[in-house]
This record gives sequence, C-alpha cells and structure tokens, in this order.
Amino acid sequence: MIGVLLFSFLGIAILAQVLTQQEQKQQTQRLLSQGSYLVSLIALHRTDDFTGNKGDFFLRTLTEYVSAEGLVYCFIHDHTGSLLASLGRHDLVSKIPTDVQRESLLTSGFSTQTFLLKGPDLTIYEFSKPIFEKAQRSGTVRLGFQLPPPALFSLERVRLLAIIAFVIFTMVAFCYYGIIVALRRVNNLHLKLRNMFTDSAPEQTLHRNITGVDQVVDDLEQSLILFKQRMKNIESSKIEMEAKFCVTAYEKNQIMTILDSMKSGIIVTDSQDNIMHINSYMLALLNRKREDMIDYPVGETLGHEELTSFVSRQGTEEQDRAMGTAELSFPEVIPGNVFRVSSPYLKDPEGTVTGKIILVENISNEKLAEKAQQNFIAHVTHELFTPLTTIKSYNEMLMTGEVQEGDTQREFFNTILEETDRLQRLIENLLNISKIEMGGLTLDRGLVKSDWLVHDCIAAIETVARKKHIALEKYLPDIFPSLFGDKELLKVAIINVLGNAVKYTPEHGKISFALGDTDGMATFEIRDNGYGIGEEDLPHIFSKFYRSKDPRVVEQTGSGLGLGISSEIISLHGGKIYARSAPGKGTHFTISLPKEEYHIGKQ
Ligand code: ADP
Repeated sequence: MIGVLLFSFLGIAILAQVLTQQEQKQQTQRLLSQGSYLVSLIALHRTDDFTGNKGDFFLRTLTEYVSAEGLVYCFIHDHTGSLLASLGRHDLVSKIPTDVQRESLLTSGFSTQTFLLKGPDLTIYEFSKPIFEKAQRSGTVRLGFQLPPPALFSLERVRLLAIIAFVIFTMVAFCYYGIIVALRRVNNLHLKLRNMFTDSAPEQTLHRNITGVDQVVDDLEQSLILFKQRMKNIESSKIEMEAKFCVTAYEKNQIMTILDSMKSGIIVTDSQDNIMHINSYMLALLNRKREDMIDYPVGETLGHEELTSFVSRQGTEEQDRAMGTAELSFPEVIPGNVFRVSSPYLKDPEGTVTGKIILVENISNEKLAEKAQQNFIAHVTHELFTPLTTIKSYNEMLMTGEVQEGDTQREFFNTILEETDRLQRLIENLLNISKIEMGGLTLDRGLVKSDWLVHDCIAAIETVARKKHIALEKYLPDIFPSLFGDKELLKVAIINVLGNAVKYTPEHGKISFALGDTDGMATFEIRDNGYGIGEEDLPHIFSKFYRSKDPRVVEQTGSGLGLGISSEIISLHGGKIYARSAPGKGTHFTISLPKEEYHIGKQ
C-alpha cells in the first residue's frame, strides 16, 4: 500500500514538473511577442520624444504600463550611442555585459539577445531596434525583460494537481479494494484447499485476516503443492483401483466362463431372491434368454413348474435342510433324463446369508449305473444259478441211475465239467472286478512261456468252439517269446477275448488266433467273422457292465465285465488292447505285451 502511495506521489510530482515546463515555454513565447511588439512601438517615436518633459511622461507611462510584465530596463540611445533616457534598476544596469549593448547599438534592424545577468542570476531577454528619422538612424531603443520565476505551485496548477491527485487516489482506493477482495478470494481458495486435506473446521479458518499479499501467495503456493501431491496420490490410487477392477472383472469373467462351461444348471440369487447370474446350461434347460431372467425374482421367472415349486418351498434353513434335494425332468429339452436340484445358501464370512445357488445336475448316468447294478445282480444271480441248476439236475440223474447208457453218461459228465468251468470263470471275473474296484488287483509276476499260455487259452475255449462247429485257425511262431507277468491273470485276459469270439460268432464260423512280434512286443491277434460290434458300441466295450443292445448279443450269457477286466490286466502288464470291427463281418482284437527280455535281472 505504501509503495502504491509513493508511486502516486512521484507521478504527481513528475506531472507538476511537466506542467511547469510547459507554462514556462508559453511565458517565454508571450514575452518574445510582447517584447518585439513594445520595442517596435517605441522605435516609432522620434528621439526628441524621449527628452525633456515628453521623455519623463513617456518613461512614467511605460513604467506603469509594463512594470507587471517583467520589464527590467529600457534604454533610449541617440545615434552616437549616448543614453537619452533610461528606466530600470541601476544596480542591474551596471551588470549588463558591454558586448550585449554593442551588439544592440550596431544592429541595423530588430534584434533579440538572451544573457545571464550575474549577481541576481536572472535570464534577461534584450530587444533592440534602431529609431529612424528622415531615413537616418537617430537612435536605438533597448528593452530588457526578465522571465518571471517559475511558480511551481500556482493556484491553477495546485487546483489541477488536486483534481488529478483526487482521481489517482480514488483509482488507487478502488484498485486496492479490488485487490483486497481478490486476495480474500484467493485466501479462501487456499483455506478451502487446505481444509480438503486437513481436519480443521472450515469456520475457524475461512475468516482468517489477510496480513499481506506475500503471505496469501505463499499459503496458496503451499496449498497448491499439497493439492498437486494429493492429485498424484489420487491418480496413483486411481490406477491401482483400475488395475484391481480389471483383475476383479477378469476373475469375474473367468468365473462366469467356468460356470457357463459346466454341464450342470446354475442360478445364483441375491439375498432378495433376485437372479444375479444364470449359466448357459440352465438357460438351455429352461429354454430362456439371459436378459429375460437377470434381476427378476427367481420364484416368478423360471417358467418350470417343478423347479419353481422346489424354490418356493424354501424357507428357514432347518426346513431347507429337511427338504434336501428333489428330482425333476426337462422333457421338452432333454427327454428321458433325470435331474437333481439342490439349493445351498451363500454366506459371507460372518455367516450372513447373501443369496443362494440353485444347482441342477443331470443324474441320468447315476440312475443308469444304479439300474445297471441292479440288472447286474439279477444277471449274475441268473448266471450263477443256470450252471448250478444244470450241474445239479445232471448229477441227480446220474446218481439215481436214470441214465444208463455209457455215451449219454459221458455227455452228462462233460456238460457238468463245462458248466463248472463256466461257473469258475464267472466267479473269477467277479473276484477280479471286485479287486480292480478296490484297487487290490496285484500281479504275481514270473516268467510266462507264451506257448503254455497259448495252449491253456485254446484249451479253455476249444470244446465250446467245437460244439458250435467253429473253425479255429492258429498262426503261431517257431520260437515262442517269453513274457514276464502273472500267468493266471494273462490267461484270464486272453480267454475273455477268445471266449467272446466264440460267443459272438454264429455256428460254422471261423476264428483265428495268431501270435507274432510287432515293434519288439509280443502281439496276440484274435479275429472272428461273427456279428461284429456297432459303431455306437465300440467306444464302450471296455467299460464295465457294458453290453451291446444287439439282440444277438443279449441272447448270449454274459456280465459285461470280461473286456473291462482284460484291459485292466493288460495295462497292469504295460501292454495295450484295442479292437477294430465291421458289423456283420467280424471283429479283430489286438493285445500287445512287453517281451521277457525287458525284465531280465529285475526279479
Ligand atoms: P460280455 O460278458 O457281455 O461278453 P464283455 O466285457 O466281454 O462282456 O464284452 C462287452 C461287449 O462287447 C459284449 O457285450 C459285446 O457286445 C461286445 N463284444 C465283445 N467281443 C465281441 C466280439 N468278438 N464280437 C462281437 N461283439 C463283441
């Protein structure tokens, strides 16, 4: 503020100085025109007019007339230069430089000279003009004028300066007020910024006095630095949040993808029972679109009577636990399939219920397995009873002497032996499958000569094959390879395959059994020209309890366990089994097993 005032005063002083100089210039101008006019006027007189009474009268008149105009002296010279009349202060006249007088007396026309009068230090303007009478110079008039001293503070100027000062001060006051208002707003801005980052109460800080511009600017700068830091922090938190959001969105997406890829129907609801998510499988089951279900109450939008009634039955947790699960079906979408619905609650870490999951699982396979097991028990029972009944009845007939003929007796004994073998194989298979199921099938390894193995396997099926008039061709090597394994189990594995060839080949058919060497493995090839296996059955024949639905297969006795056991035994020996078949033309099984030389020294 003081600076502004000083600056204003300086401005006013400079203005006053300029005005003074301007005024002096005007005065000099006026003096020059006045001096030249007056000297010309006096020069019109004759020299006689300046002597005697006339001269006194002239000088008196001149004194009165021009005293106020700064006339310092007036000299009238005759043509010789002698003074005829003079007016002025004698102390000053004596100080006029002589060359000034000479110049004036010698000049033939009007002249003006300026010189400094030493002593009082006055600037004098001397005007001179010769007096002519009858075309002869009769004298000279000299007038000396002094410029009035510059009046720095004349009344007009003081008035003008006062007006200017008033205007300036009014403007300064307005500016000052404007600056204060602006500063207050800046100060408030700074305080607001600071309040954003601190806990100080706004009313305490907003009415703080402004002590200076520097302080306000400093405070604002501090606040802006703080603000900038905060902005940086916010920016980095924002980036962090965005990254977290991306991760969450990615994870959510992953979960949704996983849910969508599941082969069970899933509905996730919130605590108000509105649907939050429904997976593709469930949408397909309900034959609905996602947008028609999301955010709708689950009890009103399912469009499936059984499912809606299950969901609506849910109430308290205890009730729900008692209710457990329910079985339902979607006959229009997947006919013949059975589904199980359950609905566990979703809870947060505090145990509060936040929603529930409605899970719909296809349990048709479980049901089928259950049915297959029931069938299996019935089947096995039948399989066990059939040979037992035959053995029992044939035995009774032999013991009671009902059969007397030697040939018939022999045939009866043979049948009893065959049925006993069948029974034994069935029991072995059952034992093996139960061992496999329990993971307890272990190998009793030893050297297995493949010629013995081939012999035993052929012996096991020969009688039945002969009965069906099936030709059995053998392609055996000169040198039989030795195997390292469990002879009894290997026998079971091969007999199951050979037995099937006999079983599923009609009478007068043909079976071939070959042993060879492929890629260093002992390879058994069992071919038949029987019924063959359909394309739909082929991928399942090694699954336990699987039997083709072909009536020619169904009429044969069987448990669906043989090939499952064979494949397990072969794989335990590090071998492979696979089948190729053409329905109506026959089947070709290949069993490859590592040869004995791989195991030398390992026993
Ligand atoms: P099964 O006791 O029914 O013979 P397997 O496990 O031995 O059980 O065989 C499974 C199914 O594979 C059989 O039911 C049959 O449909 C089919 N199969 C196996 N071997 C043959 C074959 N040589 N010819 C035709 N079908 C066969």
